[in-house]
Amino acid sequence: MTSKQIVEKLASFPNRGVATPNEIQVLDFLTQLFTNQTVSRESFRTPKTYVSVVWWLILGLATGLICLNFSPILGLVLTFIFVTMALLYFNWYASPVTSFPPFVTSNNLVIKKNVSTPKAKKLILMAHWDTAPISLLYRPEMVGNFRKSLRLSLILMLLAQFLAISQFLLPNTFLLLVANILAFYFILQGITATIDFVRLGYSNGASDNATGVAAAIETAQNLWSKNLQNLDIDLVITGAEEVGMIGARAYMKAHYQEFTKETYLINFDTLGSGDLKIITQTGSWSNIVYDNVLVKKAKEATTQTADLKDISTGAWHTADFDSVWFQRAGIPSLTLAALDKNGRMPNIHRPTDTLENVDFRPMEKAILLAEKIGEKLNLMEN
Ligand SMILES: [Zn+2]
Repeated sequence: MTSKQIVEKLASFPNRGVATPNEIQVLDFLTQLFTNQTVSRESFRTPKTYVSVVWWLILGLATGLICLNFSPILGLVLTFIFVTMALLYFNWYASPVTSFPPFVTSNNLVIKKNVSTPKAKKLILMAHWDTAPISLLYRPEMVGNFRKSLRLSLILMLLAQFLAISQFLLPNTFLLLVANILAFYFILQGITATIDFVRLGYSNGASDNATGVAAAIETAQNLWSKNLQNLDIDLVITGAEEVGMIGARAYMKAHYQEFTKETYLINFDTLGSGDLKIITQTGSWSNIVYDNVLVKKAKEATTQTADLKDISTGAWHTADFDSVWFQRAGIPSLTLAALDKNGRMPNIHRPTDTLENVDFRPMEKAILLAEKIGEKLNLMEN
């Protein structure tokens, strides 16, 4: 099957929500694409969407603030717990709040070439199969301010923490009023972030991330067929990225022991509109900078191949990518994604992320670029 046909098939499901009835059908479809490889279905526990995570954080925080009215100590403890978990979650660190119920079971697919003796180097090709809850925050007029509004929320959470400490030490009626208003504001924020999921459900995800899955698969097939001397290719199709990169984290935890200094990761996410970018900066509060040998090889490839000349580096500060765990763990990683002229991903997490809005060119380029990077890694001297 060509990458374009894979996108078409994935987009033919109404959505690919985690643990919805579509999950098994999607995984079955993907599994049968691999006749000469071993496919393992690796399950993990996860919240079903980020909606329950966001509401745990907001209700915990709001309850803490409201408790300040009658029990400052309880208010202080609750705000401390929930502010800490929120800061971790929204800066894309592992946060205990992702272990709060309700849980579902979801799956990663891990695909390896049959009977290969391990080679010196390993390249993991990754993409998430799941689609996101539709959200108001991704409307074109909102998404431009995503990082700003996230930063504002993080500042207001620190303010909530300050108010709780001050009410505990020295109660003050005016500050108590501010705390109550803040509780109300957080609840409004929660409604804004999640109302469109209640109204509209999940996005179809033709661009985010059927294109990425198709690109990862075709790259893997192409590199497997080259029988590279020094480089193993593992393909990992993750679930629950849209919950908070949960599948990728589960994969890393399960396989961390196998990773050596010669393990590399290319992640493909949202390649259906705009120009292909090598993403070198992500992060919400702080910058996460990707500056490693893989990025170097990617840049090299763009200068050496005529069809890849117009690819540049890009930044993405609206949520994050599956690669974040690997990057933080010191595994040379990069994400390939497509951005429009304003640095945005058109249609993602909206009802318009459908097949008719997909431009296949960035996906085709990502496949070519990733293949070149793989060939360079194979030849690289240690
Ligand atoms: Zn995505």
